[in-house]
Amino acid sequence: MEFPSALEGIAEAFPTKLYLVGGAVRDALRGEKVEDYDLAGAATPEVVRETLTAAGYRVVDSSPRLGTLIIVAGGRHFEYTAFRTDSYPEGSGAHKPDKVVFTDDLGQDCRRRDFRCNAIYYDIKDRKLVDPLGGQEDVKARVLRTTRDAREVFCEDGLRIMRLVRFVSTLGFTPDDEATTAAKELVGRLADVSAERIREELDKTLAGKHVLDALHLARDTGAISVVIPELAANDGIVQPPAVHAYDVLEHSFRTTAAAREDIRLAALLHDVGKAVALERDGNMHNHALYGADMAEEVTKRLRYPNAVIEETKTLVAEHMYDINANAKEVKLRRFVARNHGHIDKLIALVRADSAGTGIFTDCPRADRFDATLAKMRADGVPFTVRELAVDGNDLKKFGLRGEKIGETQRTLLDACIEGRQKNEKSGLLALVARLAKSGNPTTRRSAAKEER
Ligand code: ATP
Ligand code: MG
Repeated sequence: MEFPSALEGIAEAFPTKLYLVGGAVRDALRGEKVEDYDLAGAATPEVVRETLTAAGYRVVDSSPRLGTLIIVAGGRHFEYTAFRTDSYPEGSGAHKPDKVVFTDDLGQDCRRRDFRCNAIYYDIKDRKLVDPLGGQEDVKARVLRTTRDAREVFCEDGLRIMRLVRFVSTLGFTPDDEATTAAKELVGRLADVSAERIREELDKTLAGKHVLDALHLARDTGAISVVIPELAANDGIVQPPAVHAYDVLEHSFRTTAAAREDIRLAALLHDVGKAVALERDGNMHNHALYGADMAEEVTKRLRYPNAVIEETKTLVAEHMYDINANAKEVKLRRFVARNHGHIDKLIALVRADSAGTGIFTDCPRADRFDATLAKMRADGVPFTVRELAVDGNDLKKFGLRGEKIGETQRTLLDACIEGRQKNEKSGLLALVARLAKSGNPTTRRSAAKEER
């Protein structure tokens, strides 16, 4: 097995045997690239800190109660977790062990982990695998089996159900029947797991190669109903067969699978408003409008960063624009301009949406967006006031002051966006002169604003 050479030095200085464990071992056995190296051993955190600090390593506390710390070596960070047995408050759904007992027994440590394929150890010094639970067989068979009775494992920490979903997505493994059955039965345990932990697993799920299988598992176990009930409400909602091969939930999943990684969250949520629209209005016409607010609620609840919340909301709100692919060019230009900050993502979402119907193989609507965008870029059309070929000082020469300057800049910007004006200085100044003469530079702007 290959690993960063810095680990040999750490293992040499280490007071006990030092092992790699978890994703690093599992993924190396799968022949995949390893980026995150988790370490484990029988030494308690205090002993590790003392010994390694004395040997010249930098050691940083991570979670002393859980026995984890970070070892810095060769410019990298390695997380070390002391062998431990966890005990969980019975039936409490606490998801975090209330009692952590350190142990020097690897055989005990492996049993507190989630899946057998994650409980394979690699002895760094002796260069050999230690695998008390037969995790290697699972890696070979591409199966996810819990380290102990699946009910016990999921009962202790409901997040492990989301981890099951995540590993289906990233590894393409299949859970055994026991794990699937227990996950279904205990999915309610997910309800009081912290939003941050769920979000982390959801993000990893969405980034996986086998995301469609994972989403099916999330639906079939009920995990989607717990984590995003608004989305689950779309299960079984039929759509016109001429344009949709799948119900709304399945279409959302297919769209996600067809989408690039950076828009998968928006893809998952793009039609979240359909069930509500149908209930409220008897049709789905306004689903993007309702869906945008719902996507905001969902992403807020899952504690996504504000930038992600805003972007997801906008992508959902705009994904239906020009659904009949017949908008006039000037409107397309305005659409591109107002979405300039995320236009690539929006077009990618529109394409994924189309692919996710199971009917269409092309997307003329997105083709028109792309063509409009390309033309605007080639013509040097400004998308913001700052990109205009004239600035505030140029406008002052026309006697404009204060708010009038900003208003005029936006009027010039609209003229460029709509293709009535080139973004070059002399033409723009001539337009300012005309506007100054006619006295009202803001007329066009308000017209553009009222549209939509
Ligand atoms: P990744 O490739 O994302 O790093 P990983 O399997 O290494 O995947 P980590 O979250 O880094 O996952 O955790 C490291 C190891 O710690 C896991 O392989 C597993 O053995 C154990 N582990 C992590 N979280 C849990 C949990 N909630 N319950 C039980 N064991 C866990
Ligand atoms: Mg890891």
